[in-house]
Formats: sequence, C-alpha cells, structure tokens
Amino acid sequence: MKPTKVHVVPHMHWDREWYFSTEESRILLVNNMEEIMERLENDETYLYYVLDGQTAILEDYFAVKPENKQRVKDLVQQGKLIIGPWYSQTDEMVVGAESIVRNLLYGFKDCAEFGEVMKIGYLPDSFGQSAQMPQILNGFDITRSIFWRGVSERKGTNKTEFNWKSDEGSEVLVQLFPLGYAIGKYLPLEKEALKKRMDKYLPVLDRGATTDHIILPNGHDQMPIQQNIFEVMDALKELYPERDFFISKYENVFDELEKNENLDTISGEFLDGKYMRVHRSIFSTRMDIKALNARIESKLTNVLEPLAAIAYNLGFEYHHGLIELIWKEIMKNHAHDSIGCCCSDKVHLEVLNRFLLAEEKTDQLIRFYLRKVVDNLETTSTDDRLNLFNLMPYEREEVITTKIITKMTSFEIKDNDGNNLNFEILSQEEIDAGLIDRQIVHYGNYDPFIQYTIEFKDTVPSMGYKTYFIQEAETTATNSVKSTDKIVTEFYEITANQNGTINIVDKKLNKTFTNVLRMENGGDDGDEYDFSPLPNETLIYNDDVVANVTLTQNEFAGRISISYELNVPADLEKRKEGVRDTLVGINIELVIPNHKALIDTKITINNTACDHRLRTLIPTGIASKVSISDNQFGYIERDVYDSAMDVWEKEDWDERPDSIYPMLTYVGLCDNEHGVSVLTNSTREYEIIDADYSTIAITLFRSVGFLGKEEMLRRPGRPSGIKMPTPDSQMLGTLMIDFGITTHAGTTLEANIANVAKEYLTPVQVYNKIPHDAMKLNKEKVQTPLTYSLLSFENKDSVLSVLKKAEKEEALVVRAFNPTTTNQQLEVVSNNKISNVGLVNLNEDKQKDLEDIKIELLPNQVGSVIFSIN
Ligand SMILES: [Zn+2]
Repeated sequence: MKPTKVHVVPHMHWDREWYFSTEESRILLVNNMEEIMERLENDETYLYYVLDGQTAILEDYFAVKPENKQRVKDLVQQGKLIIGPWYSQTDEMVVGAESIVRNLLYGFKDCAEFGEVMKIGYLPDSFGQSAQMPQILNGFDITRSIFWRGVSERKGTNKTEFNWKSDEGSEVLVQLFPLGYAIGKYLPLEKEALKKRMDKYLPVLDRGATTDHIILPNGHDQMPIQQNIFEVMDALKELYPERDFFISKYENVFDELEKNENLDTISGEFLDGKYMRVHRSIFSTRMDIKALNARIESKLTNVLEPLAAIAYNLGFEYHHGLIELIWKEIMKNHAHDSIGCCCSDKVHLEVLNRFLLAEEKTDQLIRFYLRKVVDNLETTSTDDRLNLFNLMPYEREEVITTKIITKMTSFEIKDNDGNNLNFEILSQEEIDAGLIDRQIVHYGNYDPFIQYTIEFKDTVPSMGYKTYFIQEAETTATNSVKSTDKIVTEFYEITANQNGTINIVDKKLNKTFTNVLRMENGGDDGDEYDFSPLPNETLIYNDDVVANVTLTQNEFAGRISISYELNVPADLEKRKEGVRDTLVGINIELVIPNHKALIDTKITINNTACDHRLRTLIPTGIASKVSISDNQFGYIERDVYDSAMDVWEKEDWDERPDSIYPMLTYVGLCDNEHGVSVLTNSTREYEIIDADYSTIAITLFRSVGFLGKEEMLRRPGRPSGIKMPTPDSQMLGTLMIDFGITTHAGTTLEANIANVAKEYLTPVQVYNKIPHDAMKLNKEKVQTPLTYSLLSFENKDSVLSVLKKAEKEEALVVRAFNPTTTNQQLEVVSNNKISNVGLVNLNEDKQKDLEDIKIELLPNQVGSVIFSIN
C-alpha cells in the first residue's frame, strides 16, 4: 500500500557559509526573509515555513533588520514561522558534548523571546550522527529527530522511520530524509519534468515509509521561497490523483508516526556512506582549524566555566553575557560545513578569525577571574603571589612548569605558614618593563624585569586553589637538569632512536613499546571532504632519517627533544614519479613527569609539500578487533576493520568505508591485562592499522588543493561541493599538534581513560600577582581565602563535564557522565554547606528535588545537578 498523504514542507537549508561567505549569504537572507514573511502574513493558505532549525539565521537577520522583531514574533506565535531548536546546524563528529548542549541551550533561549521552539532534533545535513544524540535531545525534552546522512539497512532497519536509542535508554523517533532535504527544491511546473523528478523519488519514499505519510521538503540551500508552490501542487495532484499533496510542517508528520507502535528500534552512530556521503576522513581537513576548536572547547569548559563558578561562589559576578559571546562565536563555526572545513579559503579565514576571537575572549576572561580571586586575598602581605588553581573535582599532584616575573635576582616561594616550595629555575630572560606596565617606563624607570621559568611538583586542592608568596632570598635556586641517554620515571624507561622514534619500557606492566611516534607519509589525492590515497602507492616513513635527539631529566620530569627532516615529494606528480624533492620539518618535544604515566607530546611540523597526509604511529603490540574512543558523554567501541570494505564496490557505496574515525578526547587499544591510549588536545582523527590491527595511527594533518574533486579512489563519481581551488588547505607552513600517550593496567574503560583525558585537558592554572598591571582594577569588597576548595567528587568513576553557574537562577550546575561499563555513583561533597539540590535536564529545567548531590549514572549516561553552596 502506497502512502497517499504527501506533506509539502516549505523550508530553506541555510549554510551560513560554505564556498560562499556569511557576508554573501546574509544579503540573500535579508532578501529572502522579507519574501517569506510577506507570504506568511498575506496568504492564509501558505501555512508554514521552517527556518532550518537554527536561530543563528535570526541573529544574522536582526543585526540588519532589528525593526522586524515584532513581525517575526507574530508569525512565530501564530505557528506559521517555525524556529529553533538549534543555534547552528552543528556537526556531531568532531564537536564536543558541551558545545552540542549549548547549541540547543542558546537556541532555546533565542527562541524564548519569540514563542514556541520546534521540538525536533533537526540536522538534515550533518555528516554522520552521534550515538548519543537521542540522550542529548531528550535532555531538552525533544523526542523527535530528522536527519539524512549515515544510515544503511545494516543498522537493523530498512525503514525511514524508526526509534533510535542511546545506550542509557533515551529514545527519539526518527524521520529519515532518505534522499536529503532538497528533493522538492525548485519543483518544476512543467508536468513532464515534474513527473520525471517525482517518479524517481516517490518510490524511494514509499519503500521506507511505515505509515500513510511521506514528506516532500520544498526547499534547498539558500533557496528563496517557491512562489508558485500551489500551482505545482495542483500539477502533482493531476499527475498522482491517488495522492493528496498539502502544505504541512514536520510536526504533523510526527503526530502521525507516533500512532505507529510497530517501529524498529535501533541504536548506535550513523556513519555509513552507502546511500549518502558522510565523509569519513573530513575530521582531519584543515588541521589548524580543527585543533584550534579542540583547544578552545577544552579551555572553555574545563577551565573558564569552573573557574568562573568558583569566583562566583566567592562573591564575584558570573559573566554569562561574556561567556555566551564566546559560545556563539564557536558555535557559528560548529556548523557542519564550517567545522568540516569543506569551504573556500576566504571562508576558512573567517572561521579561523572567529576561533582566534573566541580564544582571546576565553584567555582574557580566565586571566580576569584568576586575578579577581588573587587580588582580593585575605592577607596583609604585600609580597608577590603565586596561586595554583585545580579545576578537577579531586585533589591532584602535578608537575607544574610556569613563569614568574620579578626584579629579584634570588627568591624563595613560601606558603602562608612559611614553608618553602621546592622549585627549580629552568631558564630566565629579561623583559622590558614597558611590556608589563607602560606607566613604569613613563616615570623613567627602565630597569628590566626578569621572567623565570620555574618547575615544581605540588598538590593542589580539589576544585580550588592555594597561595604562595614570593620573597627575596639570599641564595638563588638552581636546577638538577642533567643530560642522559635514558629517561627513568616511576613508570617508564624511555630512550630515543636515531630515526626520531622512541622506545618505552613500562616498568609496572613489564611491557616494551618500540618505534613509538614513527611517521607515515602518503599522497592525498582527495579534497576537503575526503582523504583519498594514490593507487598502489609506497608509503614513506622516517626509518632512515638521522634525527637530532637530546634527553634531559631533573627531579620532576624527563624531557626529550627530537628534530629531523622527512624528505617527501613536492606534489602528486612527483609522488607518482617517486621523487622526494622537498621536506617536512618535524620537531617533537616530550615531557614525561616522573610521578605519572604520561608522555606529553608536542609535534611542530613545518610543511613545504602539497597533496599528502602525515600520521604518527603508536604501535601497541595489542592485536585488536575494536578500538575504544569517546563521543559526547560516553565511550564508543568501533570495529578496527569495517566489514563493508569487502562489499562497498559491489554494492555501489557512495564512499569507501575505511575505518578512519573521529574521537573527541581519546582513543585506546587494550586486551584484558593492559592498554595504550592517546589523549588529544588537537587532532580528533584516528585509524587502527597494521596486519594485526595493533597500531594507533593519529592523523597530524592532510593537505589538499580543492574544495571538491570528482572520481577519487575512495569516493567515485561527482565532486562533493564544487571544484574550487583551495591553496590554503595545502597547509603549507607551521602547525603544532599536541597529545598525550599513556599506558595502563586493565582495559581502556576499566582504566577510565575518559577521566585521564579530562585531567590531561585540565592543566593546573597559575597566576603570578606582581605590583604592576597595565590594566587597573578597583579593590573589591569581597575577600577571598588563601586556600579554597569548593567541592569534590567522592570517586573518579564519573567524569566531570562542566561546573558552571545556572543560566536562570542563583545556583551552580554540575554535570558529569559515566564512561564505564557499570553503573556509577556521582556523589559531590564539600566543606561548605550544599543546599537546594535538584536534578535538572540539559536545559537546566528542574526534574526533581534531591536530598544531596548523589545520583546514579548508567553507562554512557550524563546527569546534571543544580545546587547552592556556601
Ligand atoms: Zn548544509
């Protein structure tokens, strides 16, 4: 039985930017919005218009036409103009959990001014769907979802309507767009053309439908309203008299679908490129931009928000407005094309600039809060100060390397009881007094200051800070740094090889890992969407290079510095000829704390070649069937080899399903006894390789010259996007990638690598107060204690996602998730009094009152609790 009810839904898909700029699309927007509103206001039969599920469109519009707010409000309240729920059309693969939550939170907030929000998780174009999306949507009371990309019947259904379930039980009803959101774009009035189009599409819609209802979305990218839609619908009725065509909205379809109790239920992520492209490998395009996003997300949620929450609780203002500006800056970049980096060079400049602005806003607000707390310490001491802030919910012992500025030539660092901090001076340099405060030189004092880089190991209170004072001393501290040929720590013995790789002996596990950080270089015949190798290519490795290597160690940490040049072909032509006529400069700086199982890795790359991909390899010796990495608020297990590789050509997939996958903060391989993991603050792409799938390949960057190319090895057929040259995507120049390597007993999940990654991404913050600051602040009435701890988690099994001030009330919100395979207790304790506790959803709406902060979290479940503390 064919579905007879065809819901024609007018909409436009609004990529704010892509191969065109936001500036260009905004002009169209102002033009299109007038047409849309006029039609909705004046034509009672033109019932609905869906504004692409994102409020950034409205923000862009009102920046130009603030006088039309009332018109929009009227149309929203009449239910004609349908807005929200998102702020932007977010990516779900390389964008972090808090970003996706805020995308909805600010989307809802923006809509509140106008009226109802469309309660559908509408992401019609995102390149793959995260397994955790049902849980995030349910967190906003959304139980309906529409998307297009990533589905194939091997997930367990061949229907276009199904229930989609997250691991912890959240569920949404999905209406898939099996043919995308644009099958009804510019519908031709001419009957033959119309029939030709619909005869192609209707059978596909019919085949997947589970009810009498199907959708014909009438819109396209930046498409103006189709003026003659009613004439077209008349033609459709004549062509298909057994069907009923009518203007509708997505909600109407869901109302019908919800009556069907026999829908399939499936779970997991959707990343199959069988019927539509998902671009598995887009995760490494424009690594400079991707890495910047990773770093800003970390700073914002791991440092700024908890720090601001501490400051708020001490009596300072929580700057919601400044923080919202940062979120909106980065969420504009989280739109699928923008963060995908499948855009023009000009657009990537805008994306990069937004990230630079967001990072500067974040850095400066972090500094502001550190200063507020330290400036107002309850002490009569006028000594310079050194304050350490720990933003993890438990006490931590860390090796801290930081800078202090002083005119003293010798000094000591003491706590309030007069106890000396044991520190070493690693280096020192003079800095101009005018750089600290131009008023100093203004009054004729040109004596330079000295900036010392110091290092020490210390324990810092949970979600709090401690204070030291810097005082003149008789003797100058020195250091115990010695050259060595082997770094020896509590956990490791590490040596460096001539070829620039390292060998790690794990003393506790009694395992040896050799050739770690081997480099793999291959051609990239792909485009901004997809990596694509050259056929039958011989990969290049650093096996024969002679690297410059130095190893040093002091009381606190070992350091290894490695540099070499890898000869590579200048471009694809040279690569085909086997000529290696240019180079990639590689500098690796490793810091290995003596007391922790961590190898902190910074790789600076100087690239002079085009059309290639560079990966670093971490051999683990653990032959694996699956990898473990993270998605939003959880872990995800993926096969190291996608079995669709055997059939993709025969089945005519849109792209080759290589097991190139996204991660957010870590990836690991393990057996039952032990494991190796990579924690990332930059790149979010990995693949498990080698004959026995025992090596973690981390993409450092890839370099391509076109937005979209056709007929690629991994992606046959038409170009994605357009064939626009993008020389900036060749990534010529310098790039820094930072990540950590750790080894552990037990499996990746038993070792809770999610929390290890969180700790890695939450470095101890340091503030050095000196008598000078170019920007003056008045003294506050508030006085802050010398040491402070706001709260602690009772255990580390649930992982802090964020601590922040509540959006709508004078309270704090703590959010944590359980990335393990067993139920865990989130339990928060404090020396201060905790009161007014309640369970809230992701939109911070109260679900129920609680006695104290103690909730059970199922595997991969996130929980948020609102509370007061004083
Ligand atoms: Zn799009």
